[in-house]
This record gives sequence, structure tokens and C-alpha cells, in this order.
Amino acid sequence: MKTVLYLLIALFILAASCVGGDELRRASETITADELREYTQTLGADSFMGRKPFTPGEEVTVAWLSGELERIGFQPAFGDSWYQEVPMVEITTVVDGKVLISSGKNRIELTAPDDIAIESPSMKQVVVLDEIPIVFCGFGIVAPEYGWNDYAGVDVKGKCAVVLVNDPGLYTGDTTLFKGRAMTYYGRWTYKHEEAARQGAAAVIIIHEPAGAGYDYSIPRKSSISPGLYMEQAEGDITPCPVTGWFSAESASRILSAEGYDVEKLRDQACRAGFVGFELGTSISMKLLNSQVKNSSVNVAGILPGRVRPEECVVVTAHWDHFGIGESENGDSIYNGAVDNGTSMAWALEIGEAFASMKNRPERSVIILFPTAEEQGLLGSSWFAANPPVEPENIIACFNNDLMLPIGRMKDIMVTGYGQSELDDMLAEVAASQDRYLMPDPNPETGMYFRSDHFPFALIGVPSLFARGNCDSREFGKEWAAEREREYLTKMYHKPADNYFPEMNFDGIEEDAKAIFEVACKVTTSDIRPGWKAGSEFANIRSSNK
Ligand SMILES: [Zn+2]
Repeated sequence: MKTVLYLLIALFILAASCVGGDELRRASETITADELREYTQTLGADSFMGRKPFTPGEEVTVAWLSGELERIGFQPAFGDSWYQEVPMVEITTVVDGKVLISSGKNRIELTAPDDIAIESPSMKQVVVLDEIPIVFCGFGIVAPEYGWNDYAGVDVKGKCAVVLVNDPGLYTGDTTLFKGRAMTYYGRWTYKHEEAARQGAAAVIIIHEPAGAGYDYSIPRKSSISPGLYMEQAEGDITPCPVTGWFSAESASRILSAEGYDVEKLRDQACRAGFVGFELGTSISMKLLNSQVKNSSVNVAGILPGRVRPEECVVVTAHWDHFGIGESENGDSIYNGAVDNGTSMAWALEIGEAFASMKNRPERSVIILFPTAEEQGLLGSSWFAANPPVEPENIIACFNNDLMLPIGRMKDIMVTGYGQSELDDMLAEVAASQDRYLMPDPNPETGMYFRSDHFPFALIGVPSLFARGNCDSREFGKEWAAEREREYLTKMYHKPADNYFPEMNFDGIEEDAKAIFEVACKVTTSDIRPGWKAGSEFANIRSSNK
């Protein structure tokens, strides 16, 4: 009798402490292709006006999202509000006259934006650089875990740092150098701007090179003549360099060869450990006229409080913003963004609904977050990560999605940033149970891991996963899937043609949502804290990581 009693007590404890397989399965079954379709069709409708921040499309979108969060059983995540204000400033920069590069013997005039693409994240109305020295700083990287410091022994305070794009691993092909061809965060232009600001540089200019950037010079050129949107500076933030930009490959070559240097040779040297930066013996001058407009948009988020440790949470993210109403193409001027990012918002809502349907609430909280201004440089998610409604240390994991293609069931789960954290291993287990396999992003040199909303979470040390089926259709194979992706990227991506179509097949996104729900469920119903893997550039950010 005693044994039976003990057994009953043991069973009771087991039932109370973890979610049974049945409960998980039942909750998972609330995720359906039909609901994903409905959400996507709504979010991609013309009535949402392309979901652009600061427009009537924002009001419609955020009101609808908070209404859905409430309907599925979530509570406001920011005190009594579903909304977190994200203060931003839009800066338009005009380069007044030419940009001058001069040394004792040479004088080169550059024209913006064709020769040099300049932006100015500064609240000053006039920014003048008057013959400040140019310092070549290799790749502009300080990476203690690789024993690498391009700023060692050089002083760039008040000067113009000129740096190479990407990181040494790409150019040497040496897999032991950084991460070989896969771009590390040190290769991203955002990092190079941040590091130059930490070093006190007055300007940072990156030498463009298409393979290293992942796009041609027309991209920074275009962005330099469009207004830039920035987060408003908070107290204690490092002031960004007042001048940031890109030299076209031709301009860089003209400037360097005039002083007797060769870009290729400098890159070779900069790829070797121990390379020391140096002043080129030439200076740069320019005058910039800035105008600033302050404006704010909102992040939308709901929370499902945990039963045991509500102060700890996982965050599921999918940005709500897109490009609004703009230049007309084929008679359509509404940039609906059904795939970017309607399908992923649907994915997040369905994961939320599965959690809310559980009789036995998870021990930890679940936050469903729809950040704003992703398309403008991850501004909403960056603001959330800097001002989270819970202690940053208590964000246990982040699960994000973006651009989920509704093309049916996939064999693969493509992990962008594969190998960064232990969440990969948890996902691999779930993938196997769905008869699927994990694969790394086939183009890791483009640095996609640093270009969506999970990334600001990674930057504060939260293990973050960006994973979806993408490359291997169960029915039609890999080539077919690659063709669908190419078709989307060339015909619809960031165009008015990114519409909802009845032919869309949501069966694959249903499986993706179930996979991430299961992993997130494991994290929320236990006290595990997944860690970063050794060698990850984010492994040392959190004190709780070894
Ligand atoms: Zn997107």
C-alpha cells in the first residue's frame, strides 16, 4: 500500500513538473495551415496599407495584432500596454560640394553618392571634417576570442578610419581564421561602425567589395541618398561616428594608389595576425548638411505569464513593418509584404495560441513580440533588447522568423547562424521526430544571422534561433525549392508583388511552427538555460555563460 502511495505521489509530482507528451501534442495540434493562411491573408490585405511605420498602416496593423494577442489569451507585455514606444530620428544628409582627399602631393575630388556613399547619424545640422588624417585599420576588428585587434598601436581619435569589408576568414579561405567563409559579426558594417565609434573615430569609411559585402555598391549608394532612420540616443550610449560611409572600389583604389598602396596587397597583409594599421599620409575633408525629424513607432507584444517562474521568459519574434505605399509597379503601389513578414507573424501567433491552449501553463513566461522598423535596421528589436520588460538575464532564448516561404512541406530546417548555440541541438531532435534534418544556411558569407530581429537579442547574450524549412521540398526536391526562392527574391521581395495568393501552401510553415513550439516548450517547462557554443562571438557577453 505504501509503495502504491509513493508511486502515486511520484506520478503526481511528475505530472505537475513537466508537460506530458499528450499535452504537448494536443497544444501542437492547435497549429494549423488553415489558420496560418487566414492570418497571412489578413496581414497581406490592402487594408493594412503595406504596414509602414508612422503611417495609417501602422495604426491598423498594431491594433489588429494586439487584438489577436488578446483573443488567443495573452496579456499586455508592457505593464498594462500592448505597445512599447520606440523613439526614432530620421536623418537626411546632403553632402555639400565635393569630398576632398589631399596629401602634400595629391588632391582627389570625390562626388557623392557615385564615388563615396555618406551618411551621418548625428544630431548636428552641419558636420564638417576639415583635413582630418585617414588611418587604414585593416578590417576594423577587435576580437579578443580570436586574439585579433586591428586598432592595436593606432590612434584614430578624431580621425577617419578606413576599413575593409567582411572578415579575414572570407579572403583567405582558412577555416581556422575567424569562421572561414561564413561571415562573423565582425564582418558586418554595423559592427565596424560600432567599433570605430568605441575607438573615438570622427569618421569610418568601409572599402566596398561586392563579394565581401554580399551586394554591389548600388545598395550603400541608394541608402546614402535616402533618409536614414536611427534609434534615439539614450544616456550612456556610445555616440556614433558623425560620419559613416563607403568608398566605391574604384575610389578606394584611386586614393590608395595615389599614395603608392594597392588594395589587394593591403588586404593580404591585413589578413595576417599582427597586422598594424597606419596613417596613409593623406587627409579627408567634407561638409554635410543634416536635417532631423523625430518620430516614434511601437513594438507590439503580449505575455503569457509562467506558472512557476514568470520572471523568466522566452521571446518569439516576427517584425510587423514593411514598406507601405510607394512607387507603383505593374499598376500596384501597395507593398503588402505577405511573405515579408505576414507568414512569420502568422507563425508567431500560432505558436502563441498553442502555448495559451495548454491546461498546464509552462513554468516560464512566453512573450510574443512584433517589432517595428526591422526593415530600417532592426530598430524595434534593438530598442526592446535595450529596454526589455523583464531582466535581460531572464530572457532564456529568442526564436525569430522572417521571409517564410509558403511552398509546402520541407525536408530541411535551415538554420541561419548554424552552430551558434545549443538551441540547434534541441531543434535537431525535434526535426528528426518530424523526419526532417537541420542544415546550415547555404550562403553564410552574406551574414544573414546579423540581419533579422533575433540578432539584437544575440548581442545582449540571449541564445537566438532563426530557423525555417527552405531548401528541400518533400514533394519536389531541392532544385524546385531553390527555384521558388529565386522566384520570390527576384519578382516579389520588397516589391508590390509580395501579395497573398490562394495557391500558397502553408503545410510547411505549420510544421515549422510546431517544431519551434516544441523547442520553446522544452525551454519554458524546465529550468535549462541553453548556452552559446564555444567559439561563438556571443559566448562571452553574459556572465551566466561559461
Ligand atoms: Zn523581413
